[in-house]
Amino acid sequence: MIRILDKQTSDKIAAGEVIDRPVSIVKELVENSIDAGAESITVEIKKGGKTYIRVTDDGCGIERDEVEKAFLRHATSKIATAKDLDNIETLGFRGEALASVCAVTRTEVLTKRRDDKTGVRVILHGAELLSNKPVGCPDGTTMIVTDLFYNTPARLKFLKSDSAESSLIIDLISRYALAYKDISFRLINNGNILFSTSGDGDRLETIGRIYPSIDIHNLVTVNYGDDKLKLEGYISTPAMSRTGRSGQIFFVNGRAVDSKVIERGLKEGYKQRLFEGRYPLAFLFLTTDASELDVNIHPSKREVRFDNEKQTEDFIAEAVKNALGTPQAVVRAADAFKNKPKENYKVNYNSLNDSSEYTGWKSSEFKEEQVEFNVRPPIADEIETPPVLSPEPEREKIDLYSPVIKPFDFDCLTVKTTIFDTYILAVDDTNFYLIDQHAAHERIFYERLVNQYQSEDKMRQPILFPILLNVDAYAREGDTSWLSLLREMGYDIEPFGSGSYRISEIPTFMELSEAENFARDFIDGFRNKGQAENSVVIDKLIMKSCKSAVKAKDCLSQEEILALLKDLKGCVNPFSCPHGRPTFVKLSKYEIERLFKRA
Ligand code: ADP
Ligand code: MG
Repeated sequence: MIRILDKQTSDKIAAGEVIDRPVSIVKELVENSIDAGAESITVEIKKGGKTYIRVTDDGCGIERDEVEKAFLRHATSKIATAKDLDNIETLGFRGEALASVCAVTRTEVLTKRRDDKTGVRVILHGAELLSNKPVGCPDGTTMIVTDLFYNTPARLKFLKSDSAESSLIIDLISRYALAYKDISFRLINNGNILFSTSGDGDRLETIGRIYPSIDIHNLVTVNYGDDKLKLEGYISTPAMSRTGRSGQIFFVNGRAVDSKVIERGLKEGYKQRLFEGRYPLAFLFLTTDASELDVNIHPSKREVRFDNEKQTEDFIAEAVKNALGTPQAVVRAADAFKNKPKENYKVNYNSLNDSSEYTGWKSSEFKEEQVEFNVRPPIADEIETPPVLSPEPEREKIDLYSPVIKPFDFDCLTVKTTIFDTYILAVDDTNFYLIDQHAAHERIFYERLVNQYQSEDKMRQPILFPILLNVDAYAREGDTSWLSLLREMGYDIEPFGSGSYRISEIPTFMELSEAENFARDFIDGFRNKGQAENSVVIDKLIMKSCKSAVKAKDCLSQEEILALLKDLKGCVNPFSCPHGRPTFVKLSKYEIERLFKRA
């Protein structure tokens, strides 16, 4: 039998297509506020938006007699006829959002137009009108949406954790706040204000408000092109980069987009200025002729297609190169270098009581200023026997990949010299070795971190001046397991008020800047990873963050080289850096003789 579904059922089905999670409700409500000409928008959520979403604006409000109509399907004030479709200047026009939202939630709206004396309060539960009464309220509109999917419980199952859902909302509001720099946004999560922007049009300041972890003095201005094709925004000097693309946000004609074309152009623009695996921060706003874009993209999708991809990519690259070459960029890059903290805060740390002469791995540059400290060198045998696991039941062990063969013995190596400030040349009786200092250091650093994480005795050193880390809303309100994981690795880190954390002890084998860089990148890694639920993920995060922590060192002293080789020898896998690059290449005497056609 074929039936025409009743209104409530068809509404619920239609709502499922628009409203699949809390963030889609927030998106629709905020877009309505923007369309209403709001100058200030407050978004408040609880439990990732699952139980409570409030959006308050100071926009035009809704006519008293029209509030109920606004919740009907295909009810819109933004277009009147099909002709208007060619000329849309608002974010919404389909007239479906409010109908969909109210079908699957309990919705309350308070609204008042400027010229009206009183406002109105309307309550709907699952699209059913419960109340419509005049009420005193400020100009503008407040939408309160509670109990998402209370009448479609099957959908609740598809929601992620509260923290994952709130991350999506934080991300969304961050993008709107960047795109609409003239609107003041405020975001509140479980009663905490995550950020608020001034709405006074200063984009750089807006970036700083939303992402306190970013030092905006390290960003340079991009302003390139003409009215037909223009790129504006901010990018980081090469001194400030991340292990992933989390710090890259793109807008095309005002809309937040994901775009491989812009990603590639950006990368090209930085060519040779960043290490492989490092990504610049970028807040880029591209304005282009709408006819150059694929207009058929779905409004809720973030992808954008350009008619001429290569040309757009080259344009972005040019704009970035240009920005990095400006005097502003050069000065900022120089400042970033000058302000690098000197490594002289280290305190003597003798509590390990080790008799070995090992002095750690230090750059000769800072040598005079450094107070020596003793670290127990890892002993190969010790690493290979599984370290004692802490009593926590769910902690899994990270497996350091251990190669089967170990034809590697540094004992009788004679170090000849270093070339290109990067490669150590060494020989033994029958072999010639070229060792990549940086890869070797990364391997050592990584294994020590993993060992530290696995072992019960954390070897830490107090630092004289604590490191203060500003942490973005994402990391504070999303998955915060980075905090306990850093502690597991030997950090002493505590919340220090308003989005800051204080590090007062760091793992013994780290230099100050290494400790700071590692912590920053490690926290940043949680932005896209979501939950660091198992050892494989944790291992990946550690690997990734090692990269930035370990600086490319130049010009090592003889002792430093020997210490490095000794540490490398102690590694479970001395053959490659954590990312798979070899730490050394080896040529046997026989191979060399063959090269010269002697054998
Ligand atoms: P659309 O945005 O596509 O028009 P919606 O269902 O989102 O459809 O909203 C329906 C109508 O309700 C809008 O056209 C607008 O007239 C009114 N409206 C919704 N939210 C607001 C708001 N915050 N301020 C003023 N008017 C609003
Ligand atoms: Mg709308």
